[in-house]
Amino acid sequence: MDHIPKNHPRAESLRIRQRLVDGYDDGLVAREGLIAHGRGEAFDYILGERTTRLAQRSIKAAAAALLLARNPVISVNGNLAALCARQTVRLAAASHSSLEVNLFYDSPARRRKIASKLESAGAKRVLGHRRADQTELPGLGSQRRIVDKRGIAMADAVLVALEDGDRTQALAKDGRRVIAIDLNPLSRTARTADITIVDNAVRAMVRLAAQCIELAGKKESGLRRITDSYDNAATLGSHIEEIAKYLERAARNA
Ligand code: ATP
Repeated sequence: MDHIPKNHPRAESLRIRQRLVDGYDDGLVAREGLIAHGRGEAFDYILGERTTRLAQRSIKAAAAALLLARNPVISVNGNLAALCARQTVRLAAASHSSLEVNLFYDSPARRRKIASKLESAGAKRVLGHRRADQTELPGLGSQRRIVDKRGIAMADAVLVALEDGDRTQALAKDGRRVIAIDLNPLSRTARTADITIVDNAVRAMVRLAAQCIELAGKKESGLRRITDSYDNAATLGSHIEEIAKYLERAARNA
């Protein structure tokens, strides 16, 4: 990271990019993962590279949903492991969630590397990388259908980040509460999930863990009030309005 000047206006974005490239060199990230990151970056740029007030509202609902779940699982892919392994492990601890490796561009070697990365970041148990424990999610053609019998297969809530719409739809159809972290409020994942946090996973993971700790002592009825009053479609609509306003302002000043 030494080559990134501290005073560079896009320093944080460049540091995040470098983490992903390092993750690719280490065999955690698929080539296609680098491209998926680019789509996210474009939205992050337009959203101001900060956690918005709207995203914070989704984070609160997501934390309540994770605390209410009996078997919450955090689904981890290469990008997430490369970008924020430590923060993901902290969130798992704060929300009593299991961690499971789940990949679109699947390979046993990559699954193992991602599991090791999480273990080095402090995870006690990582699911999804032992063939004997694998089963299939119904209604899905991609490799993402392969899930762990002790994890996503029996989860009532699943947190996904940088997810493709197909699995989000399959999880939702199968009755799981889906919490998504996705910078694109227009994606199928964003629109299918029960709660979508439109924020960079790097920032969202930290805030979500903090929110879980803050809500940990709250009664079940209080947590339910938070999730019941949350409207994902309306929140996504507001995100899109904010993007439209940003673009209008930019067009006026061009
Ligand atoms: P869908 O199938 O849901 O319409 P998609 O085809 O865009 O989505 P992918 O190509 O798998 O799905 O892209 C992953 C998604 O993750 C994209 O919507 C992208 O905006 C988002 N994304 C990329 N990087 C990040 C990040 N660091 N944090 C949060 N979201 C991200």
